Amino acid sequence: MAVAVSVINYKGGVGKTTLAANLGAYLAAQGKRVLLIDLDPQGSLTFSFVSEDEWRDLYKDRKTVRLWFDRYIYDRAGTAFQDLIIQPPAVAERLAAQASRTRGTGRLDLICSDLGLINVDLELAPRLSSGSATQAAHNFLKVHSLLQEGIRSLPPDRYDFVLMDCPPNFYIVTKNALVASDHYLVPVRPDYLSTIGLDELERHVAQLVEEYNGYLGRVPAARLGPNEPGWQPIRPKLLGVVLTMVQLYRDQPIGVQEHYIRRLQEKGVPVFETRIRDNTSLFAEAPQWGVPVVLTQAHNPSQELAREELETLTQEFVQWL
Ligand code: ADP
Ligand code: MG
Repeated sequence: MAVAVSVINYKGGVGKTTLAANLGAYLAAQGKRVLLIDLDPQGSLTFSFVSEDEWRDLYKDRKTVRLWFDRYIYDRAGTAFQDLIIQPPAVAERLAAQASRTRGTGRLDLICSDLGLINVDLELAPRLSSGSATQAAHNFLKVHSLLQEGIRSLPPDRYDFVLMDCPPNFYIVTKNALVASDHYLVPVRPDYLSTIGLDELERHVAQLVEEYNGYLGRVPAARLGPNEPGWQPIRPKLLGVVLTMVQLYRDQPIGVQEHYIRRLQEKGVPVFETRIRDNTSLFAEAPQWGVPVVLTQAHNPSQELAREELETLTQEFVQWL
């Protein structure tokens, strides 16, 4: 079974998508088989790997994660989960070129997002309220287990890692990611607003776990449908906080950031030793080439440093798991 990890933070612009893309890409370069799932309606992860034209012409109507939720919402047979998966071409080419040198077998697959994911949250919410206590419990479990059901429908040895890039909220799609996850990873920018929501996030995850597992005890086995006996207690664990966009002066975080890094450490949350430094021009440009920074050729020392950091972080990630 694949290890499933959500990349999550309520705050937008903290580096979730960049982290998911680079982590996935470098794991694949190391010979791992990785599935990325873009759960943010903004589709930044999707557009880090495929062009807008490609997405509109090839994937929009046939291969997005929205279609998976729509199957349930509109109660219709639809595409199987595994048929929503694409192999982004630019990365595949880069990995293949590398594989011919290293005999690697890694791959990076993607399920694209769609702006319509916003409606999925709106459509699923009313399904939660319903008649009897047993029915309510059943609905809750069903609505929050949809993504897990999809992932479990894949051949069990297909992937080593499933990485889910979450939107900056805690609505039903995000909860689906957590229900499907063994771990969650929280990128944080060392500034006031980015560090403030961490306690809240942990509290909300704990609430979700309590609610989900509580409901699980209240649904009689006889009420379970053919896909549902697989429902099990969930326990997504905070793997750690990754510090991103760290601004250095003489190799040390600038004072104000150092203050927030220290506060995070004092909270006792696990913080990855490897930090991603700030490099706006590099990270802003990368998505349009369809290949994350960690797989690009370094043309200057700062690019080389960024790549090394991302590599080290991925190694640390694997160790922590
Ligand atoms: P999120 O998914 O949390 O909204 P993104 O990964 O999309 O965050 O990053 C937000 C913006 O910051 C993007 O423009 C991205 O290119 C940029 N960015 C990401 N990581 C870094 C970094 N280490 N240094 C500078 N800019 C970064
Ligand atoms: Mg994002």
